[in-house]
Amino acid sequence: MKALVKRKAEKGIWMDEVDKPAIGVNDVLIKIKKTSICGTDIHIYKWDSWAQNTIKIPTIIGHEYVGVIEAVGKEVVGLSVGERVTGEGHIACGMCRNCRRGRRHICENTIGVGVNRDGAFAEYLALPASNVIKVNPAIPDDIVAIMDPLGNATHTALEFRTLAEDVLITGAGPIGCMCAAICRFAGARNVVVADPNPYRRNLAMEMGATLTTNPNEEPLEAVLPRARMTRGFDIGLECSGSSQALNEMITHMYNGGKIALLGILPSGAQVDWNDIIFRGLTLKGIYGRQMFETWYMMSQMLLSGLNVEKVITHRFPVDEYQKAFDAMLSGECGKVILDWE
Ligand code: NAD
Ligand code: ZN
Repeated sequence: MKALVKRKAEKGIWMDEVDKPAIGVNDVLIKIKKTSICGTDIHIYKWDSWAQNTIKIPTIIGHEYVGVIEAVGKEVVGLSVGERVTGEGHIACGMCRNCRRGRRHICENTIGVGVNRDGAFAEYLALPASNVIKVNPAIPDDIVAIMDPLGNATHTALEFRTLAEDVLITGAGPIGCMCAAICRFAGARNVVVADPNPYRRNLAMEMGATLTTNPNEEPLEAVLPRARMTRGFDIGLECSGSSQALNEMITHMYNGGKIALLGILPSGAQVDWNDIIFRGLTLKGIYGRQMFETWYMMSQMLLSGLNVEKVITHRFPVDEYQKAFDAMLSGECGKVILDWE
């Protein structure tokens, strides 16, 4: 089968002919229809220090996809050939203390599809049946292909109640933009999105931000009156991974404000802890998606009118994968879809 493989310890990704994966008794074989490129795939493409320390060569990358069940292992129940599915990309062990108390998203032995084992940028993917997600037929293929990052956004945006609250989102990448859409859907008052990239500020507005700002040109103090706010934000969703953005956010939270941290900060990033202590702020790390509550919540939001279609800005046939990676590398994009059919 065709697969996009990290074959060499250098920048790039290569289309190879590889064996179709074998499935175990508890696995499902998925024929891939469409995939979507994640920032993680770009780290692997660039071969940065995280990728060098994490990825073994060769690995088929990718973990955002929609496909159809081609075969099921003989112990699998509740899943049948021909069903349209996607999958939770974090394979939890099921046996550690967190797994056994229902916190599989912070399993201590998590294995990442397309990171620690072969992934979905291929004609076929083998996945444990417990990670397979069936999706309502009313949700279109392209949206199913981005449910993994939509799940990150759902987990982040719904961590705290946003109804009637003033929300600040730092970072208008695909996840920050989808957070904006969810916050509006969930009844937020202001959804202010900060990003230095004008293409992405524009995307955030189209997705439901009430106001955007360039943090390099306009201090947040100047944004508050534009949003008819006087005190500060109730909820902060950090989706940039910039320590400057996090510090600006902390400074501009209203007393008692709550911050969800999704963006991956550089190690050693600093904050003024007294700002957090004396103003009673709450900070919560967000990893992956809650298994499987986040999946139920995002499916139901999509069926009840949440619209995230605009976050998909590029589509390519898989043979033009280099163009797709170049679009991701440019920063002038939202989600980029590859068609495998
Ligand atoms: P992305 O890289 O596409 O978007 C990040 C955005 O932040 C960019 O548009 C960039 O211009 C903007 N930015 C940079 N500096 C900024 C600043 N000072 N202020 C405001 N914005 C700034 O990323 P994405 O795919 O949308 O993902 C968002 C973040 O979440 C990334 O850091 C990613 O690594 C992380 N992530 C975490 C998890 C998790 O489980 N915790 C899962 C997926 C992604
Ligand atoms: Zn576990």
